[in-house]
This record gives sequence, structure tokens and C-alpha cells, in this order.
Amino acid sequence: MSVLLLAEHDNGKLSPATARLVAAASQLGPVDLLVVAEAPAAIAEAASTLSHVRKVLVAQGQSTAEALALTLESCAQRYQSVSANASSVGKDVIPRLAAKLDIQPVTDIVAIAAPNRFTRPIYAGNALETVTDPQPLHLLTFRASAFRPVAAGGSAPVETLENSVTSLARLLAAHRNQSDVPDLSTAQIVIGGGVSVGSAEGFQLIEKLGKTLGAAVGATRAAVDAGYAPNDWQIGQTGKIIAPDLYIAIGISGALQHLAGIQGAKKILAINTDAESPLMKLADVALVGDLFEVVPQLIAELEKLGVSRPTG
Ligand SMILES: Cc1cc2nc3c(=O)[nH]c(=O)nc-3n(C[C@H](O)[C@H](O)[C@H](O)COP(=O)(O)OP(=O)(O)OC[C@H]3O[C@@H](n4cnc5c(N)ncnc54)[C@H](O)[C@@H]3O)c2cc1C
Repeated sequence: MSVLLLAEHDNGKLSPATARLVAAASQLGPVDLLVVAEAPAAIAEAASTLSHVRKVLVAQGQSTAEALALTLESCAQRYQSVSANASSVGKDVIPRLAAKLDIQPVTDIVAIAAPNRFTRPIYAGNALETVTDPQPLHLLTFRASAFRPVAAGGSAPVETLENSVTSLARLLAAHRNQSDVPDLSTAQIVIGGGVSVGSAEGFQLIEKLGKTLGAAVGATRAAVDAGYAPNDWQIGQTGKIIAPDLYIAIGISGALQHLAGIQGAKKILAINTDAESPLMKLADVALVGDLFEVVPQLIAELEKLGVSRPTG
């Protein structure tokens, strides 16, 4: 059973999420990775080094959702599965393709039981359902953070795809926050700050700990709503889903909507003045204390030990 997987990329670089998507897709069969971009060469070259990739198909073209759906449609019949990331890109593209092909997609897959049996969260991650997809062609999106990335070291052939697809929609501009910290959805360590951090300046303390540990920095919705942290830091039901090896939650109560975003975390360290807060009870290590005392002490101890992890 062969799988066509839409490669995720940003700003001319292959996204680290793609290696995780390949890990998921390769459980179904040989994976052909499709790279569509205005300037795809460097992205395709990086894609070809991922192990478990049979070949990389490269199409020069627009990466608007309309154009991507049309390109995928032109290749879909050669595969048993067409898949993408359950990110804003996949959420934009796969439903369009599903409508064109009149197929019910299975979205946000976190585990694969068989080539046509998939597990996905429902009710904001409070329950998992396993569904069987009887359709001859499966349209799938994978939650990248639920899968371990495949290693580099592959050397898949790169094949150019004639792409005559054009879309009436045009990308006028992309505005991004410049940041040298790792991506929240794929980071190995994430530090989250709650509203009790108190201000945007207070968040610099969280960022400092993040820099020492080479971690991504996130926040609760309450902290984002208060203007202490940018929107794209929000972790949770209406924010980003994370699955780091370690999540350090600082001054976070552990509301259900926040927990929905951190269920994939392997270990949780919580720091809070209230030992009875839900996240302190759930954490692997719960440290009762004032964040403004504990975090500087933690940074000082790590510096004393010479801990300095590169970001990524
Ligand atoms: C539809 C909907 C969607 C939502 N989506 C999300 C979402 O995606 N993500 C999300 O996070 N929330 C979401 N929420 C909001 C959520 O319900 C909570 O309000 C929010 O998560 C609480 O954030 P918090 O832990 O920062 O604040 P609080 O709940 O106010 O908790 C603050 C914590 O800090 C502790 N504290 C106080 N001072 C200190 C100190 N000095 N040192 C250490 N600890 C201290 C307190 O003991 C407390 O536990 C959503 C809500 C709704 C209704």
C-alpha cells in the first residue's frame, strides 16, 4: 500500500515535522514525499535524506491550499493513501481534496493500528476513538507530535513532477515572528508559563530558563489573553498540541483546556504555590514554591552545573 505524503516546509526549509510524518506514513507502506514550493530544490534535497522515503516528487508551484489540493488530486489515484500534517496546512488542504474526491478524511491521527484502522482524539483530547476506514483511498492527517521522527541518512531519488496547476488565489505576504527558539510542536523540552508570571517582562524569566535548556517556550491562554505572551505560544485545546520529552509548567493551574494540549508530554515538572492544583497532582515532579524564587534558583543551579543545551 503506497502513500503520498505532502511535505511540510516553511520559509524555504523542510519543517522538522516532516520526519515525524514520514514515521507515521511509513507504517502504511512505501512513502513518496511531495514537495510543492515556488523554489523547491533545497527543500527536496533535505527531504531526500530522510530514511523510509521511497522517492521525492518535486513540483514547482504555488503553495496555496487551492493549488496544493489540485496538485494532490492529480496524483491521488496512483496511491492508496494521501496524507498530510494535521497542521494549519493539512487542515486547509485535505478537506478541499476530500470534497473534490468525495471521500471522508480521517484527521488528527495519533496512532495506526492497521492500514485502515486509526486512532484519533475527540472531545478536545479527553477521549480517543479508533476508526476503521473502508474507503479504497484514504485521506489522512497525522498529528506530527505523536510520532518519533525518522532518522536522516536516506538518499531517495528526486523526480520532477510537471505541475500545470494554477490557483486564482495568490499569496501576497507572510508575516512571521523572528525567533531562534525551537518550534513548540516538535521541541524535546517545552517550558510553559501561566498568567501568574504577571507580565511580558516576567516571561523573560521563563525565556531565560528556556535558553539554558534549549527549550521552546509556551504559555496558557490566560497568559496570552493578558498580553504577556504572543498568540502562537498558546498551548492547549485552542492552541498548539505539544509532545515533548519534558514539559516544565510554571505557575499553571492545569485547566482541562490546557491539559488537552500537553497529553503527549512524556514527563511533567510543575512549579506552583498551590500543591492542590490539578497539574501539580498530575505532574511526575511537583515543586511547591513561588516561581519568582524557584526559577532564578533553577537557572543559577543549571549555570553552576554548566548546563547549556543548543536550541533544537
Ligand atoms: C473554549 C475554551 C478554550 C480554552 N483553550 C485554552 C487553551 O488552549 N490553553 C489554555 O491554557 N487555556 C485555555 N482555556 C482557558 C483555561 O480554561 C484556563 O483559564 C487557563 O488555562 C488558565 O491559565 P493559568 O493556569 O495561567 O491561570 P490560572 O488558572 O489562574 O492559574 C494560575 C496558577 O498559578 C499559580 N500561582 C500563582 N502565583 C504563583 C507564583 N508566584 N508562583 C507559582 N505559582 C503561582 C496558582 O496557584 C494557579 O495554580 C480555554 C478556555 C475555554 C473556555
